Amino acid sequence: MSDRREARAARGVDSASVATQSAGWLQRARARIPGGVNSPVRAFRAVGGEPLVVRRAAGAEIEDVDGNRFLDFVGSWGPLILGHAHPEVVAAVREAAGRGTSYGALCPQEVELAERVTAAYPGLEQVRFVSSGTEATMSAIRLARGATGRDLIVKFSGCYHGHADHLLVAAGSGLATLGRPDSAGVPAAFAERTRVLPLDDVDALEELFAGEGDAIAAVIIEPLPANNGLLVQRPAFLRALRELTARHGSLLIFDEVITGFRLGSGGAAAGTGITPDLATFGKVIGGGLPVGAFGGATGTMRHLAPEGPVYQAGTLSGNPVAMAAGLATLEVLERDDGWRRLETLGKKLDEALAPVIAASPLPLQLVRQGSIFWLALQAGEPPRSAAALDPQAPARYAPLFHALLGAGIYLAPSAYEVGFLSLAHDEQHIERFAAALRVALGECP
Ligand code: PMP
Repeated sequence: MSDRREARAARGVDSASVATQSAGWLQRARARIPGGVNSPVRAFRAVGGEPLVVRRAAGAEIEDVDGNRFLDFVGSWGPLILGHAHPEVVAAVREAAGRGTSYGALCPQEVELAERVTAAYPGLEQVRFVSSGTEATMSAIRLARGATGRDLIVKFSGCYHGHADHLLVAAGSGLATLGRPDSAGVPAAFAERTRVLPLDDVDALEELFAGEGDAIAAVIIEPLPANNGLLVQRPAFLRALRELTARHGSLLIFDEVITGFRLGSGGAAAGTGITPDLATFGKVIGGGLPVGAFGGATGTMRHLAPEGPVYQAGTLSGNPVAMAAGLATLEVLERDDGWRRLETLGKKLDEALAPVIAASPLPLQLVRQGSIFWLALQAGEPPRSAAALDPQAPARYAPLFHALLGAGIYLAPSAYEVGFLSLAHDEQHIERFAAALRVALGECP
């Protein structure tokens, strides 16, 4: 808190009234909302200090209720690839809302977004919209089980797929691959149907498939794992996964909730040349409104109700306002050559941070894929698995995070969360970030 107060004072904001605004909202929030937040990472527990209470955002900036502005590299955790309140997205939302906020019946925008998503993504013939990434992965898993008639699913340690019971599972300590609940409230019996493997380990994969391959309904993976730092995978590992799943009749699910329409219109699938059986989406396809989706070939999607026996539904699924935001976002991205511009901006980030990293008193490297970046506070090779993460990084990150926040730069409040560039960022923003990082590193213990 004191860092931020100093920063506010430095920016000429009256710290007494400022503290009252944020502190007042937080106090009220903590009384009525568990932990004062509606999603745990927002509480800043990993870095300490008081969380942001935001009143508005525009372009690359976010402003708290006290009038402090921050250059935002969180971007609502990924959806805001055009930046905050992009005029065309806001106009589309206004226009759609004026025609009714929900119909509970098919509307043309759903068809248009479905056509756009299926046209862009390898192997995707049909898609169903839901309202979050969690719903998308949960539904894809049920579909995979229903379509294959098998129960077992496989996930990787270090990948996050939302908080559905069978995906909130960690590697068991004894029998390495047997899943155990990663949250209170997840029945052990559910977790036992999930196998957990390390990333980047073809041998472990082959061993599991040799023993249980014919009982595995699906393997789910973030093809570019971006929820535990940014664990860039070797193409050979992803190819082995594709080959083994195909050979055993298990479905390969790419969770592209972060990477879908962020790395490019074809997500990580197009980037790696590997086509999954099912893919899940969220974030960018909703343009900042609550949207998720899952899809695959028609032959697989046919198993879903009302055509098939796998039940799945949603009161607000395909919501016309959310669909309009997603459509507007994808239109702007395509029209404005968005992905190429984001890559150029990413290269600028590489260049601007290189001398800062070279002079850093802390072990530091930048891991970047397109507009997704991660400041890895560890030495050596960029990690490819959760086991390769340096457990000292969070202790190094907390003071750095607060020094940057004090300088008006908002990175994710966790050492293992990635940052996002948007089309609202420009070269000056990158320079400002690099300069602030240089100073912040100098201040860190
Ligand atoms: N999959 C991935 C890869 C994610 O990063 C996330 C959320 N960050 C989810 C699924 C869950 O999405 P949501 O938070 O919208 O439920």
